[in-house]
Amino acid sequence: MPITATHVNLYHVCHRELWLHANEVRMEHTSDTVSEGKLIHETAYPQRAERYREIVLDGVKIDFYDPKAKVVHEIKKSNKAEAAHLAQIKYYLYILEQNGIEGATGILEYPTLRITETVTLTPTDRSEMVKWLTNITVILNSLTCPPLLHAPICKRCSYYDFCYVGE
Ligand code: SF4
Repeated sequence: MPITATHVNLYHVCHRELWLHANEVRMEHTSDTVSEGKLIHETAYPQRAERYREIVLDGVKIDFYDPKAKVVHEIKKSNKAEAAHLAQIKYYLYILEQNGIEGATGILEYPTLRITETVTLTPTDRSEMVKWLTNITVILNSLTCPPLLHAPICKRCSYYDFCYVGE
């Protein structure tokens, strides 16, 4: 199974959520962590969306890539899972680099908070990425579901009822 940007994002949110998602356990309402920005992008930035292309490299889909400026644009609603958002963009930059596109940058935007961050891939990120991908592969291949997180973010996770039904 190719490691997707959603896998990298969820790895930084909750290993159990990553495993449940990878094993196609789906709940009725969608999780906050998955591709929420696409809709915001298309509705809030119709003109800007024109210069961005959807591209797929090594099975990884990048929704908004500007090939001229070599910029990945990612929009999120809330910055509560900022580390996961940054990791997702860094994975896009890593995949671009692995495919010969060097020096790309990312723009992470939270329109409702009026926050914009520029994201680059550093040498530390590259070595961290190798660790993340190794750990993600272990989780994806595991036959057992990782333990409960017992964290405040559980309350806004789509798996909340599933995880805490017996508690
Ligand atoms: S409810 Fe909590 S433990 Fe369960 S998948 Fe979501 S974040 Fe992880």
